[in-house]
Amino acid sequence: MAWYCSASTNTELVENLSRVDLIKSERVKEAMLGVDRAHYAPSRPYSDSPQSIGHGATISAPHMHAHACEYLIEYLKPGAHVLDIGSGSGYLTHVLANLVTSLPGSSEEQGQVIGIDHISNLVDLARSNMNKSAQGRELLNSGQVKFITADGRLGWKEGAPYDAIHVGAAAETLHPVLIEQLRAPGRLFIPVESESGSGFSGGQYIWIVDKRADGSVRKEKVFQVSYVPLTNAPRS
Ligand code: SAH
Repeated sequence: MAWYCSASTNTELVENLSRVDLIKSERVKEAMLGVDRAHYAPSRPYSDSPQSIGHGATISAPHMHAHACEYLIEYLKPGAHVLDIGSGSGYLTHVLANLVTSLPGSSEEQGQVIGIDHISNLVDLARSNMNKSAQGRELLNSGQVKFITADGRLGWKEGAPYDAIHVGAAAETLHPVLIEQLRAPGRLFIPVESESGSGFSGGQYIWIVDKRADGSVRKEKVFQVSYVPLTNAPRS
């Protein structure tokens, strides 16, 4: 756990993550500097640890958000379309939007990020978090960011194909429908539960799935993680 990156301001937190190479790309750094975590993780916003946001969900640690952006960065060009499944607090959705949209009036094509969560209270929370900044309000009002209540295991075919899909909760399998909804080329970042071989849990691993321009698919297991599970919606 990269707790030593914890800080007392947003800028200091991002600088610390950058200094120890958890943030490598200048674009990721700029995008994270552009979102104040205090709008999304009110209790200890600049601590490099996951925090509860209620409803059994957590906002992931800043270094995990940095990893996700770094793995997806090649696919997060201005104009790209992105799906953020398990959007929770909405923090990463906002950072991803900073990477794929450009300033109003710019000649570059405008991208879009769709955040999905299956708990409607969290979808409302993400919207109200994003409304705390003028730039967040602009992203919502322009439709460049949309939050939707739905089961993310099915993806969101209305917005497909996606240049990048991020999954923020641990899946039981590498859902094929998510790979179908990737553009060619496109990339999926997804934590997946390992099969528990002899009765011991195998843990969770991030998988990177690339759909190449010719439509062929390459899957790679990259590192071990600990996410809340991607589940059925709780009964209300
Ligand atoms: N990226 C978010 C992570 C939130 S925790 C953040 O950093 O704030 C994981 C989220 O996945 C929770 O909000 C939970 O409600 C959501 N989730 C779990 N199963 C889901 C499903 N089947 N479909 C959509 N969202 C789901």
